[in-house]
Amino acid sequence: MTDYAPKIGLVSLGCPKATADSEVIITKLRSEGYILSPDYAGADAVIVNTCGFLDSARTESLDAIGEAIAENGQVIVTGCLGVEADVILAAHPKVKAVTGPQQFEQVIAAIHKIVPPKHKPFEDLVPEAGLRLTPRHYAYLKISEGCNNKCSFCIIPSMRGRLVSRPINQVLAEAERLKRSGVKELLVISQDTGAYGVDLKYAPFKWHGKEYPTKFFDLCQALGEMGMWVRLHYVYPYPHIDAILPLMQQGKILPYLDIPFQHFSPTVLKRMKRPGDTEKLLKRVQEWRKIVPNLTIRSTFIVGFPGETEAEFQILLDVMEQAEIDRAGCFKYEAVTGATANELENHVPEDIKQERYDRFMQKQQEISRKRLARFNGQEIEVIIDSSDDDYIYCRSMGDAPEIDGHVYVDTDSMTKNVAIGDIIKVKVSETDEYDLYADMIPEDVTELIAEDA
Ligand code: SF4
Repeated sequence: MTDYAPKIGLVSLGCPKATADSEVIITKLRSEGYILSPDYAGADAVIVNTCGFLDSARTESLDAIGEAIAENGQVIVTGCLGVEADVILAAHPKVKAVTGPQQFEQVIAAIHKIVPPKHKPFEDLVPEAGLRLTPRHYAYLKISEGCNNKCSFCIIPSMRGRLVSRPINQVLAEAERLKRSGVKELLVISQDTGAYGVDLKYAPFKWHGKEYPTKFFDLCQALGEMGMWVRLHYVYPYPHIDAILPLMQQGKILPYLDIPFQHFSPTVLKRMKRPGDTEKLLKRVQEWRKIVPNLTIRSTFIVGFPGETEAEFQILLDVMEQAEIDRAGCFKYEAVTGATANELENHVPEDIKQERYDRFMQKQQEISRKRLARFNGQEIEVIIDSSDDDYIYCRSMGDAPEIDGHVYVDTDSMTKNVAIGDIIKVKVSETDEYDLYADMIPEDVTELIAEDA
């Protein structure tokens, strides 16, 4: 390593869990080009990972913070005692930032504020865009962790905790790195994408000299300026989601919304502890379709939720048809240990769950077939995922990788070389219940980028 790498000191107190948290923090810092300083004097900033379990541990933590301030001055506190920020700040008002246990992103953000990373592509152990499991042309962009909702069938909030959003400057910087590494499509994910920034009270952060609030709309808008396909997943149907439809209309983000509605019967939704005004929701969906006629709505639903009657199930099918839910996954309700829904009465027998599942899938297939038929004869943009002798396997703007359909482009229609990740225009010749079949339009092939370029 060279001398110019920023150096971070670490004081790690407490139990093995705290040690493991420290390891996560230093791994992340290392991947960004920071190195560890063995002493206070050589460090640009110091992290104190505290313990708050016993009184003696609290005293030790507060003493360690005091020592780090005296020796270095640029101190970030994290760990168990971090949940009592008022206690820490009362004892040590010069502390730069206080975060709780496992709030790794906030620790890293606080470090960035004091001493920004200096990435060195030829020296660092991790590529600039990070280590990824997806193909080179698309990438998941995680914007937050945890969830503040209390859906009765779900234990994610108790497992992952409440919502913790990544500061917007970090998310945008990651998106930019991904773009530089060849990514053409970003898949925005979290447990609750629409709630982004609520926990940070929409705090603004600077990125490229401009301030951006850590807010769902502002994130979508900024990502939409980067020249990649931006696809939104796991969007809870909050009213403020409506504000992003114009961004889709302007072509900034993809006309695609993955909203796990879970059910459409108001009484089932009430038992699920989810918003239950289906009539209003349906009107909103119809409004969305007026603004963005080509909007693809993907969703997931649970059939056989405790107490679900035939009439309630029928409402689900009816509204699904009226809302023209383009793509839908269906799960038969399963009791998850720890979920409050388990205590509900009248659990649905397995054979009825199966029968409803089959009817659901049949209805969904009909809707999907009808929706996709509108593409017949249309020219559309697709992104190339792979190819063989017969087809170039592509996806339209309405197809997320892994979960939605394909666009099969006949290789006989190919008059130019194309590569994985290219976005090309094709003419749809046939549609079925999930997929499209198309021919290439040679003159509209975008600039070609070889896969190994
Ligand atoms: S289902 Fe989704 S929104 Fe509901 S509690 Fe679980 S993670 Fe949160």
